Amino acid sequence: MTHPIPKPGILDIAPYVGGRHQVHGVANPIKLSSNESALGASPKAIEAYREVAGKFDVYPEGSAKILREAIAEHFGLDEDRIVCGNGSDELLTMLANSYLRPGDEVMFSEHGFLVYKIAALANSATPVVVPEKNRKADVDGMLACVTPKTRLVYLANPNNPTGSYLPYDEVKRLHAGLPPNALLVIDAAYAEYVRKNDYEAGIELVSTSSNVVMTRTFSKIYGLAGLRVGWAYCPAHVADVLNRVRGPFNVSVPAQRAAAAALRDRAHMDANFAHNDKWRDWLITEIRKLGFAVDDSVANFILIHFGKQKGKTALDADAFLAARGLILRGVAAYGLPDALRLTIGPADANRAVVEALAELARQ
Ligand SMILES: *Cc1c(COP(=O)(O)O)cnc(C)c1O
Repeated sequence: MTHPIPKPGILDIAPYVGGRHQVHGVANPIKLSSNESALGASPKAIEAYREVAGKFDVYPEGSAKILREAIAEHFGLDEDRIVCGNGSDELLTMLANSYLRPGDEVMFSEHGFLVYKIAALANSATPVVVPEKNRKADVDGMLACVTPKTRLVYLANPNNPTGSYLPYDEVKRLHAGLPPNALLVIDAAYAEYVRKNDYEAGIELVSTSSNVVMTRTFSKIYGLAGLRVGWAYCPAHVADVLNRVRGPFNVSVPAQRAAAAALRDRAHMDANFAHNDKWRDWLITEIRKLGFAVDDSVANFILIHFGKQKGKTALDADAFLAARGLILRGVAAYGLPDALRLTIGPADANRAVVEALAELARQ
């Protein structure tokens, strides 16, 4: 050996590639590739951030108490069972770091979030990828893959990049079929966008069991992706574990302040929700009219399908839109080479996407 070698699995990781920011030769492209908020952060969150500007010499309060209090109040939860993270990605990773031993199995569905696979491989665990049915997690298929080595099950609900969701009955059925020593992690990054009678983000299941964790984020509807704040609601014994392994000051002062303020600005949240609901339906309808297949979605993005016809493939469409300053997300890395994911954007951006796709369809 000529240099130190990382743990088995790490060199099998394909580095995560985020949504593009720039297009060569286009001055101010519109980024619709990372599911960021269409309306941006709450002005109250920005104000809270500004209040602490200039006071960057003091460490944050390590447990993010002011933020946990705000979350507990907003959702009616026990603040001692909330753990905050540097984005929910950090919590998803900490859970893997805490519970996986080499050779353990980590289950997730076919078009699941890429972070799950990275977290598994980084801990020398084995990813078990379960095929989906019509781009929806298949509970029977997942239950059929349970073995004595199953340690962690990640379920994004709603899922990214498909936009589909599992009703609460199905999530409960999945949980009921898991052994008690396997942890079910419900990644509810898009929960705030869903208002369906049969949907439950995970709070109830966490409250009534000892092997379920729900993760949430301030990156999406709250518009704080750049600040990196997420949280997990856990059984007390899991919160205890996470509090031992997390970085002692993992959520910065401005992030704690801005997130707590964002949570208290219900009007901004409601405006975001209403904007998303209206424009998502409009985009799905208009894009279908142009002849493209679009999946139903409960999140702040939609999945558009392209065919194999030369000049009109997903890759061609991506280039065509990018040249017009519209950045979508190719999802080949998620096993969907013929689709593009479009984040619901501001009104003008949404109209521009439909106009560009109409032009592409006419070609
Ligand atoms: C965006 C997203 C997250 C949030 O990640 P953060 O680290 O909180 O920004 C988590 N899970 C899924 C499926 C996502 O799409």
